[in-house]
Amino acid sequence: MSVLVMMWTAELPETPQALNELEYPEKLQKLLLTPNREMGVELVVQMDSGEIEVFNAYRVQHNNSRGPFKGGLRYHHQVDLDDVRSLASLMTWKTAVMDIPFGGAKGGVTVDPRRLSERELEKLTRKLVQAIKEIIGPAEDIPAPDMNTGAREMAWFFDEYSKYKGFSPGVVTGKPVHLHGSLGREAATGRGTVFAIREMLKATHAGKIQDHTFVIQGFGNVGAWAAEILTEHGGKVTAVSDAFGAIQNENGLDIKALRAHVAAGKPLAEFGGGGAIPKEELLYMPCDVLVPAAIGGVIDKDNAARLQCKFVAEAANGPTTPEGDAILREKGIIVLPDIYTNGGGVTVSFFEWVQNLQNFKWDEDDVNRKLDRKMTDAFHKIWTIHKEKNVPLRVAAFVKALQEVTRAEIHRGFD
Ligand code: GLU
Repeated sequence: MSVLVMMWTAELPETPQALNELEYPEKLQKLLLTPNREMGVELVVQMDSGEIEVFNAYRVQHNNSRGPFKGGLRYHHQVDLDDVRSLASLMTWKTAVMDIPFGGAKGGVTVDPRRLSERELEKLTRKLVQAIKEIIGPAEDIPAPDMNTGAREMAWFFDEYSKYKGFSPGVVTGKPVHLHGSLGREAATGRGTVFAIREMLKATHAGKIQDHTFVIQGFGNVGAWAAEILTEHGGKVTAVSDAFGAIQNENGLDIKALRAHVAAGKPLAEFGGGGAIPKEELLYMPCDVLVPAAIGGVIDKDNAARLQCKFVAEAANGPTTPEGDAILREKGIIVLPDIYTNGGGVTVSFFEWVQNLQNFKWDEDDVNRKLDRKMTDAFHKIWTIHKEKNVPLRVAAFVKALQEVTRAEIHRGFD
């Protein structure tokens, strides 16, 4: 996955459409693609058994021309430096597309968190803070949740950092609501995805969410919230999957009940309100909108031709490989790109950071309204470039992001 995500950004300046429009000198291209700083550390943790284990961890700070570095921390057994480097650059383009005053970064620990007890995870998180505390901070680099991390890890993170640097809620976003977190942050990526889909359906004259069927890959924080909010808007979610199984109901799944079932620790595929299907088949189910909301690289050259949807809304980071994307384009499937579609998470992270600086709490309606406005504005900017330059939405989003970052670089100067 890592290389694939990187290819997007590395390839982009060679994409004739984008280059023709932007005419970037080679040196500027290099500047935009090279990470500012990469840090690799080893975290030594004493496990509950008394054994010592060592975990590799990374923080890559890609670009901060538009503001402090910003991006999540993931705990996953496949994390490596390449992976984190690619994801960090996606954050630079994402914050630029969303027009929030941050740069891009990403962190990760190579660990299967399901193997660790809560106590071990806490130790791991605190060790990570100790290792990277000198390169992060509310005005430097602000981590956040990502795959397999959430409010619990962010609370430990905030606490550990504050021990060294004093009370600093703005060092990390995605904290628990009762501990300087923002209302609406947990649902923000899923909610933003739904706003993005709404705008896409409107712009393509496809109608409203309530007129469509949705298939969702991934039932973690992003997928589950997207599914729930789609059904609140009257959309029919006909199939969902997680890492272990998939479930289908042609009449629409009861997502609230499914969430309760999963929250009770029961396997998704055993949910009574639908029938189990092989999880490998999920991507090929007929539907209007397919929402990949899990890991990267799932739509590729080998399977893209089998998709039976009209739209793909990339709620995950990097779910489609460049080869897969080319096939979707040939098939006439419209792809709403990740750097825009899942930008709701970092947008509400920005709102949380602002609230921390203000020492003030906004109400949830206010957060959701502001998120809606950000998603809608960004969509129209991308759509305008897509129409004016006759390029796919992904290229249009990258054009917009590159323009913003380049402008900041040039105005700040190079001395
Ligand atoms: N991990 C999320 C992302 O990939 C959120 C990042 C953030 O809030 O900083 O966009």
